[in-house]
Amino acid sequence: MPFDPRRLVHPGILSITPYVPGKTIQEAVRERGAGDFIKIASNENPFGISPRASEAIIKAISNAYQYPEKTCVELRERIAKRIGVSPESILVGNGADGVIYTLGMGLINQNDEVVIPQITFSMYEPVVRGMRGKVIHSKMTGYAIDLDDMLRRISSKTKMIFLCNPNNPTGLLIERTDLLRFLQSVPDHVLIVADEAYFDFSDPAQFLSVIEHFKGGHDNVFIIRSFSKIFGLAGVRVGYGVGTAPLLDLLYRIRPPFDVSVLAQAAAQAALEDSDFFNETIALTNSEKEFIYNQLNKLGVQYVDSHTNFILIDTGLDSQTVYTKLLDQGVIVRASLHSMLKTHIRITVGKREHNERFLRAFENILKE
Ligand SMILES: *Cc1c(COP(=O)(O)O)cnc(C)c1O
Repeated sequence: MPFDPRRLVHPGILSITPYVPGKTIQEAVRERGAGDFIKIASNENPFGISPRASEAIIKAISNAYQYPEKTCVELRERIAKRIGVSPESILVGNGADGVIYTLGMGLINQNDEVVIPQITFSMYEPVVRGMRGKVIHSKMTGYAIDLDDMLRRISSKTKMIFLCNPNNPTGLLIERTDLLRFLQSVPDHVLIVADEAYFDFSDPAQFLSVIEHFKGGHDNVFIIRSFSKIFGLAGVRVGYGVGTAPLLDLLYRIRPPFDVSVLAQAAAQAALEDSDFFNETIALTNSEKEFIYNQLNKLGVQYVDSHTNFILIDTGLDSQTVYTKLLDQGVIVRASLHSMLKTHIRITVGKREHNERFLRAFENILKE
C-alpha cells in the first residue's frame, strides 16, 4: 500500500482549515521582486521593538547556549507584580498562541464542546479540532459577539468558551456591564478563556479585564495576553496566561519545557520596564487612528470603531480584489478574514507614512 499521510493523522487534523498568516515583506519580495513594500497586515507594532527589550536581547545572547528556565521564574514574578496576582497564577508561553496550544492540549478531550464566536481570532479552532473537540459557533449580532447566544450554546459537554476582548478582527469591545453579567451567568463547569491580546489599546474606563473577575475569587477563568503587539515582540514569541495555580500545575505537564527562549524571557522582562515605549505606542496609535478615521470619512468609507491597533474596513468591494490591488501598490493588508466579511479588509494602524501610503493606494482603487 502506498504511504498515505491522511490515513496516519486523526480526523481532527483533517478537519482543520490551515491558518493563513499575513503576508510578510520577504514573501512579497520573493513573489513580486524587489519593491518598496509596507506590511500593515498582522497588527505588529509599527514603531518597532521596545528599545529596552532590544538591549536586553543583546545582553542575554551570551547565555543563549543554555536551556532557559522552565517556568520563567523572574518573568513570572514581574508579570505577577504588574497585574496583581501571585506568580503561581502565571503561565508564560511561546507567544499567546503557545499558551492557547498548551491550554487546548491540556484540557480538550475527544468530543468536548468548545463555544467560539463565529467571527473571532482564528487560532482557537485549530487546537480544538486538533484535540478532536467539537467547535460550537455562536452567532454574531452585526459585528458584535452575541453573549446571550454564547450562553445558550453552553451544554453539559461544554469544556470551555473563547472570548476575545477586544475582538480580532472587528476591534470591538464588550461593555463592562454586559461582560460582568455574562461572567456571572457562565456555569462553573465551563472554563472562560478571555483573550486580552489588545487590552492595552482600550480605554481603561470602558474595558473590564477578566483578571479582575479572577481576583474576585472566580476560578473558572483563564486570561491570555501577548507581548507581540504593544511591546513589539511579535518575532520574539512571548505571551502569558493567568489562571489558578492548580490548573497551571497540570498545564505544565504538557507545555513544552523550554517554550520561552532565554532571549524571549530577557526581552519580555525589559519590555515591562519600558514605559516610554509603551506610552508612546498607545499615544501614537490613538492619534494615527483618528487620522485614518478622518480620511476614511472623507472617502465615505465604512469602518468599525476600534478599541485596538487595527481597523476593520468595509471597502464595499470584493476584499480579495482590493487586497491584490493594494499589493500591486506595495501595501500588504489582511483580507479574506471570514466568509461573512467578503468586502472587508483589516489594516494595522501604522506610522503616518504607512497610513498615508495605504490611504493613497486605497483611494486609487476607489477612483477606478
Ligand atoms: C496576535 C494575537 C494573538 C497571538 O499573539 P502571540 O503572542 O503573537 O502569539 C493572540 N490573540 C489575538 C486575539 C491576537 O490578535
